[in-house]
Amino acid sequence: MLQKILLHFLMEEDEKHNTLELFPPDHLPAALEQFDTVAKTPGLTVTVEHTCIHKDGSLRWLESTITNHLHDPHIQAFVANFRDISERKQAEERQHILDQVSNLVVSSLDQQITLTEIAQLLVPSLADYCRIAILDEQHEIQEIAVNHTDPDKVALVQALYDQYKDQAEPVYGVQKLLRTGKPELISNVSQDVLAHIQVHPDMLEILRRLALKSYMGVPLIARDRIIGAITFSSVQPSREYTKADLYFAQELARRIASALDNVHLYRQAQAEIRERKNAEEALRESEARKDEFISMASHELKTPLTSLKGFTNLLQRRLTKQGDKQALHFLARMEEQLDKLSKLVSDLLDVTKMQTGKLEFREERFFLNELVRETLENLQGTMETHHLQLEEVTDVQVLGDKDRLGQVLINLLTNAIKYSPEADTVIVRVSADEHNAIVSVQDFGIGIAETHQEKIFERFYQVNDGTEKTFPGLGIGLYISSQIVRGHHGRLWVESAKGAGTTFYLSLPLAREG
Ligand code: ADP
Repeated sequence: MLQKILLHFLMEEDEKHNTLELFPPDHLPAALEQFDTVAKTPGLTVTVEHTCIHKDGSLRWLESTITNHLHDPHIQAFVANFRDISERKQAEERQHILDQVSNLVVSSLDQQITLTEIAQLLVPSLADYCRIAILDEQHEIQEIAVNHTDPDKVALVQALYDQYKDQAEPVYGVQKLLRTGKPELISNVSQDVLAHIQVHPDMLEILRRLALKSYMGVPLIARDRIIGAITFSSVQPSREYTKADLYFAQELARRIASALDNVHLYRQAQAEIRERKNAEEALRESEARKDEFISMASHELKTPLTSLKGFTNLLQRRLTKQGDKQALHFLARMEEQLDKLSKLVSDLLDVTKMQTGKLEFREERFFLNELVRETLENLQGTMETHHLQLEEVTDVQVLGDKDRLGQVLINLLTNAIKYSPEADTVIVRVSADEHNAIVSVQDFGIGIAETHQEKIFERFYQVNDGTEKTFPGLGIGLYISSQIVRGHHGRLWVESAKGAGTTFYLSLPLAREG
């Protein structure tokens, strides 16, 4: 009974106010069932939200409330009221679309899938057909997604795009949006409008077949750059886009653009990481090749050097016998150069051994101060330019490889001499604290600027700013020294300032008694 009353009411309402044309069949049974329970239950109130179709063809949302007052002797009727809640429903629906779009774009890093899915989301809730275009770095259209409520017409939407994509001066549409970055709205696409914008006959035909009624388009802008555009088209006379729709579309576009931009930045970062990894890999490979080359070259050089040394010794003995002083003098010069060459080659060999972890140290207990004294005396014997002065000596016993530690001292002393060409003294001190023996080598030479002080211990590092350019060397002496010292659990460091001389410190753990 109530069903009849309700239907009758709805029809009447329709006739009186032209508001309702019919109750949509898909909502009717559920609504009527609800109302039926009201009819059966005195005092019950039921509120139902349902759609209905407005006379203009648009879908409206109603909130219908019915109360059963049949049992009330003063009323004896059903009391019903209806409220148009379309605006609230539309706001909810739009919020839902925004949420869905946001979820979609953040959850997928595959742009193609995302665009297609967005195009599916927009139809039919916001448009009967839509188009999304994305630009690449060169500002060329990289891809395009289209959708239509009628799957058969998707090809037509694509054809429309193909028609105007090459137009030099497009008046509306994706191309224009991409160029200007300005939103577009044609609420009512009448024949007049089409005539006004001088649509090409082929295009006009497609538009006629698509039955375009209303249109809006928004650019996708991220970090002030146009990265794409979305167009919304309606074929329903009841859906005419308004300014409010356009604002909503802009908000939607803003979210999509920023998400796509994030995808873009993410990919860029990934590509950079890949590039850096490749570069690092290439560097590692070239370092490995370099090490291999150094190792090979120094081994190859060692053999002829050893035989050269052998022959000079032989010659020396002969010449001494013959008493040829002049030839002996030249031979001595030759030997000096051979020694230099041997030192370079054995340094290079040491570097390769260190790289491959093959450098081994003998272990013996000895007085470091004795080693310092011996090294100084030996060097002084071949040295005329500088006085190597042993200023302060403490007896200190250490544990380690005497030859290798001697090598460190020679490196420090020869550097002190080499880098103080204007000076004539190098001061060496041997001292100790509670746990360590400390040797310092002080020169009065060119000094080392603070910025280089850590780097000079790196492999092949040479200070290269002006004054130092003329000093020969390979930049490996300090690297070898620091590796040897580290192998003895000691420390090697420098105190210096540019132009103010340099002091290198070597500290080694004292050997325990016993
Ligand atoms: P090199 O064969 O170039 O001397 P080293 O490894 O022994 O190689 O030294 C690295 C760099 O440290 C040198 O090129 C030089 O610039 C700087 N250096 C080392 N010792 C001194 C010093 N006593 N005074 C000034 N600069 C020094």
